[in-house]
Amino acid sequence: MTQRCACCGKPFAPRAQVPDQTFCASRGCQRARKRQWQRAKLQSDPDYRINQRAAQQAWAQRNPNYWRHYREAQPDYAQRNRDQQRPRNQPHNDDPAKMDVFDLPTGLYRITRHPAFPREGGGSWVVEITPVAVTCPRKMDVSREELIDASTICP
Ligand SMILES: [Zn+2]
Repeated sequence: MTQRCACCGKPFAPRAQVPDQTFCASRGCQRARKRQWQRAKLQSDPDYRINQRAAQQAWAQRNPNYWRHYREAQPDYAQRNRDQQRPRNQPHNDDPAKMDVFDLPTGLYRITRHPAFPREGGGSWVVEITPVAVTCPRKMDVSREELIDASTICP
């Protein structure tokens, strides 16, 4: 008996031990299943949410330069990412503050108001952008995803 994979849509045969299996066994689809499970768990389990947040913050503190180093080590990746995010008909943006934002890979980030900049008049905020998890498998390198996954699971 076959079933259609909830991720890639291809037919597959569920394993006998898992009769209600909805994701096929391919690596990408199993990753998607794991992310879906984590999202559901984050929604339903406050303790899990707190633990995840603590683990992610600890990871970010241990790896303060991770994203910058990653981009420096993989200039093609950073350039491709900029190309995707900047419309081609716009001139190159030389504002360093804005360039940093353009350099961020697609993913999930936490934005918090920076404590050193209490709210100023005019309604603009100075914020800190912290990577939480990267969710788009097409735009990421496998080793990086594994690093992030490991950090969320093994604090
Ligand atoms: Zn699949």
